[in-house]
Amino acid sequence: MKSTMMQVPLNLCHFLERAGRLFGGVEIVSRMPDKSLHRTSYADLHRRARRLAQALQQAGLRKGERVATLMWNHYAHFESYFGVIASGGVLHTLNLRLAPEEIGYIANHAQDRFLIVDDILLPLFERFKALARIEQVIVVPLTGKPVQAPFVDYETFLAGADGDWDYPHMDENDPIAMCYTSGTTGRPKGVIYSHRSQVLHTLAQCMPDAVGISGRDVMLPVVPMFHANAWGVPYAACMLGTKMVFPGPHLHPEDLLPLLEQEQATIACGVPTIWLAMIQLLERDPGKWKLSPRLRLTVGGSAVPESLIRAFARQGIDIIQGWGMTETSPLATIARVTQLQGEPDEDERFATLASQGYPIPLVDLRIVGEQGEQPWDGKSVGEIQVRGPWITGSYHDLPQSQDSFTSDGWLRTGDVAAVTPLGFVRITDRTKDLIKSGGEWISSVDLENAIMAHPAVAEAAVIAVPHPKWAERPLAVIVVKQGVQVTEAEMQDFLARRFVKWMVPEAYVFTDAIPRTSTGKFLKSALREQYGDWKWADAG
Ligand code: ADP
Repeated sequence: MKSTMMQVPLNLCHFLERAGRLFGGVEIVSRMPDKSLHRTSYADLHRRARRLAQALQQAGLRKGERVATLMWNHYAHFESYFGVIASGGVLHTLNLRLAPEEIGYIANHAQDRFLIVDDILLPLFERFKALARIEQVIVVPLTGKPVQAPFVDYETFLAGADGDWDYPHMDENDPIAMCYTSGTTGRPKGVIYSHRSQVLHTLAQCMPDAVGISGRDVMLPVVPMFHANAWGVPYAACMLGTKMVFPGPHLHPEDLLPLLEQEQATIACGVPTIWLAMIQLLERDPGKWKLSPRLRLTVGGSAVPESLIRAFARQGIDIIQGWGMTETSPLATIARVTQLQGEPDEDERFATLASQGYPIPLVDLRIVGEQGEQPWDGKSVGEIQVRGPWITGSYHDLPQSQDSFTSDGWLRTGDVAAVTPLGFVRITDRTKDLIKSGGEWISSVDLENAIMAHPAVAEAAVIAVPHPKWAERPLAVIVVKQGVQVTEAEMQDFLARRFVKWMVPEAYVFTDAIPRTSTGKFLKSALREQYGDWKWADAG
């Protein structure tokens, strides 16, 4: 017997058509480089994305060819997300925070043929263009200054298409977008997404038990649109017709807070470092910003300290933590209290929210240690391995990367975790960040979370440094809040209340800032380079 259901391919262009038909009047707000607000609508997104698709085809784009973007978060990037896909091309979002040589390597490796770039980022393009083989450059005139030949003005490019155009034939497994891992661990690797992977990811992500996104939300993505599909938010917003507020190039909390307030955003997403900085402003000046009572934050990319979740809760703002990676589209687990927990007390509730959460539907997850698959007992640790329809099974044109996958078809994430009996993942580290002291593992994530719970601490990162007796010891790099102080001895006392003695670091560095990766996480490799030859006063 066969099912009687229609075989309709999953297709992201459906979202664009739906938004054009149902949600044309919903606003899309973008902050420009001069901080003015630019307002368009889903009707504009629909019309202009289709024109972009037609114009790209007229310019010679063939199916499956790459169109790179080098852009901040704004309306034109949103249009490119759908226009490139609608043309049959593959959207390749370049990470503008990487070094020019790295961007050039990536653009060349992906064989990008077209580039859509913000005018304010042209100087960056000039620095890597010799390394890439980009044939046509389309410039978004964010500043309003005229675009000089040989570059093509984005508006002129769109005006060259009349919109009388049909979508090319598409299969649900066709490639639609690609993204390179930000290279925290070695050479960037390319992941290619399909209609199918992103439609399914979007549906799962929007569920109330996952991120819980609604058409009645106002969404402010701080996460850059070049970081793992902006966590899938552009697809979700278009599917639901959610009002978008794009911050443009202004990502400092002092710029974000007035925007959150003015547009009454109800959901914002970004890595923990953004919110660590924002909470200081909120606490320093309580009541200054009249934020939406519905505002919640989705946070991921690195572990979210429980102290941060509690601090935002005191401001009436919930934090929803997700875990994932470029390879997983990115969402794989989400931290939500489940029905099996009933009404947990405050400590259990915050502990749940500070975990990486449980796997969302269609994601299979297991923990594999040296002895094989580990039980979900909350104690046994091993590498997280995942499998599912939006998890990559290989890397673009990188046959030597087979080590990243198991012979039975799971992705090896390189993250080390234990899973509780209820299915909550608790990441202890990335494999390379673990600290092995005297033969015992110490979790840098646990130490960081504990240090950041100290009232004087704004930010902290813990790394392993070589030690003559213990092989490795933890070293804590700490940024204290403005106007307060803390000593090493106080920090040690504070940690001794939570950790057994041998886990408490005896090495501390107090500094003004912790270096960041291109996606805003703490850059531990730079700290290891800087402090790797730590001189131990007493090696006993
Ligand atoms: P990169 O690998 O270059 O940092 P990604 O953004 O793809 O780029 O990073 C994925 C990694 O980020 C994960 O493997 C994990 O180590 C870390 N990560 C993501 N979300 C979380 C989280 N909620 N808690 C802890 N670590 C996280």
